[in-house]
Amino acid sequence: MDNKIITLSHGAGGEAMHRLIKELFVKQFSNPRLNPLADAAILKLNEERLAFTTDSYVVKPLEFPGGNIGQLAVCGTINDLVVMGAKPLYLSASFILEEGFPIQILERIVTSMSQTARAAQVEIVTGDTKVVPRGECDGIFINTAGLGMCPLGHGLSKAPLTEGDAVVISGTIGDHGIAILAAREGLALQTTIESDCASLHELIGSVLKESKGVKWMRDPTRGGLAAALTELAESQSCDIFIREAAIPVQEPVRAVCELLGFDPLHLANEGKVVMVIAAGEAERIVELLRAHPLGRAAATIGQIIGGGMGIVRMKTEAGGVRRLHRPAGELLPRIC
Ligand code: MG
Repeated sequence: MDNKIITLSHGAGGEAMHRLIKELFVKQFSNPRLNPLADAAILKLNEERLAFTTDSYVVKPLEFPGGNIGQLAVCGTINDLVVMGAKPLYLSASFILEEGFPIQILERIVTSMSQTARAAQVEIVTGDTKVVPRGECDGIFINTAGLGMCPLGHGLSKAPLTEGDAVVISGTIGDHGIAILAAREGLALQTTIESDCASLHELIGSVLKESKGVKWMRDPTRGGLAAALTELAESQSCDIFIREAAIPVQEPVRAVCELLGFDPLHLANEGKVVMVIAAGEAERIVELLRAHPLGRAAATIGQIIGGGMGIVRMKTEAGGVRRLHRPAGELLPRIC
């Protein structure tokens, strides 16, 4: 560790966080279930395969256009299970509350957790509540853990990634990041940009039921699409080529990015999935995604290419080619 203290960049989903995880957590905790650093650990118990995940939520502001910290906490954990091909079943919910926090706001947050869980047929079965003195946390922090089952017979394809596999995104990128930024900074925008915060169990379930062509999935949260694709290339030792012009970005998101110098590829999403799909199945799966309200803007954005160096390149809209990296430094702390 170069700097001897934790900085905000250690939580930003980019290079510093990746190194902290690899060089401290994985080094100390190392085991075959943790080491792949997937969205959820896959646990084999007798004949069953379970998916197990956890996430903490510290988003600021607590309520924002398109969601709140509670909805985010339930959706985020459900999504980490479904991108592993699992059916989400049970969640835990732990609350760290600051003395003085209004119970009315807590009620709103907990009500939307309950509604979101119920809509996904997930039960919140255990939890914990701690209260710290005024000033020792910012209102409320929430941790959720999730347990799901990987159903036999469907789920992710076991086939290795090969040249020509398609890289697909389920919709527009950057919506959550810009919604939080706009809400936090009180940006006076012409249109309200809403977070894409959503539970993907139905969207992904509809694809896995119809096709055996999905080889890999990830929800591009902190670090954005760039971090998800870098992770994919490095972990699978494959090279990826994407086309910037094919990546769906809402016009107002693009406008704010241009104004403030953000790259939409680095912004967090909370209701999107990146998929790698066997070449022959890609068109059909994009159609399946587009048939669902959460996948209307789904698009093939590139493909796996030969090389095996673990790098991601992008043909830019200007016509050049640049290499994609994990975002360096801290973009927007407390984005989720
Ligand atoms: Mg994830």
